[in-house]
Amino acid sequence: MITTVKIKRIIDECEDVRTIIFHLDNHSNPKPGQFVMIWVPGTDEIPMSISNYDKDGNWAITVKKVGDCTRALLKLSIGEYIGVRGPLGNSFKLPKEDNKKIILVGGGIGLAPLRFLSSKLMKKKIQFQFIIGAKKENELILMKNLDNKIQKFHYCTDDGSYGEKGFTIDLFKKIIDEKSPDILKNTIVYTCGPEIMMVKLLEICLEKKITLYASLERIMRCGCGLCGLCTLDPLGMLVCKDGPVFNDKELKKIKDFGKNKRDFSGKKIKLNS
Ligand SMILES: Cc1cc2nc3c(=O)[nH]c(=O)nc-3n(C[C@H](O)[C@H](O)[C@H](O)COP(=O)(O)OP(=O)(O)OC[C@H]3O[C@@H](n4cnc5c(N)ncnc54)[C@H](O)[C@@H]3O)c2cc1C
Repeated sequence: MITTVKIKRIIDECEDVRTIIFHLDNHSNPKPGQFVMIWVPGTDEIPMSISNYDKDGNWAITVKKVGDCTRALLKLSIGEYIGVRGPLGNSFKLPKEDNKKIILVGGGIGLAPLRFLSSKLMKKKIQFQFIIGAKKENELILMKNLDNKIQKFHYCTDDGSYGEKGFTIDLFKKIIDEKSPDILKNTIVYTCGPEIMMVKLLEICLEKKITLYASLERIMRCGCGLCGLCTLDPLGMLVCKDGPVFNDKELKKIKDFGKNKRDFSGKKIKLNS
């Protein structure tokens, strides 16, 4: 069911990225990792991760302008209306024991679901390190409202214009290289971002026996298992229903991970085409 909601607040994050906050009552509480289908009149519905939620029923999505629907969404002002369907999909599995070391790795707009996860971890008083990367400073989403002395935020840009120069993977390697195998066995990594980054993370995590959860993006029309555009071969898992979050054991078996996606007609194409 689509619910029409009024935009309450808009935050400019960085170039072509805004967070849109709306109030939604009478829905099940969303969990970090879940997404909503968003509709702007005159466009198609599109999937957006829930980038924050509070107990007063304020939901946030963080949107990057890439095409028609996201452009229409970013043209809206406070007081205008959007359609929302969700929460949909599965969520990041939170640690049960408190001896776990947590590392979040977000690249570009992939930060959106991890921001909600980090708020949840903070509320539960679980410590974590957060590696945040982008190509350059004006594409970097800063986590000013969450920054504090307990959690460690590490920023990097490909060109060195903000934080360390280099990729999130370089920072990740530096952090885990200091840790013993025993600590690594008790480490959980949560990631979302460019799939090439997540493929590299998987390789390292499998080698070091680190638990990994990655949130994947695929084109989808329905968000609820009907259109099949987000099927991952050979397991036939759907990003919208079985995901968007997959664990290391599943990712290892998904041959499309880092390689293929389906276009709007259902044809399988290379991921970066
Ligand atoms: C579970 C999930 C969560 C997402 N969360 C966010 C988020 O928090 N913030 C955000 O900005 N974007 C998110 N996306 C991606 C977002 O849905 C697409 O950017 C959007 O649908 C593009 O629509 P458009 O009409 O603006 O662009 P289009 O003109 O449709 O496409 C522009 C480009 O984006 C690609 N694209 C289109 N749809 C998708 C899609 N579903 N996934 C990946 N690439 C796509 C196209 O192949 C093309 O290269 C998410 C996608 C999924 C599946």
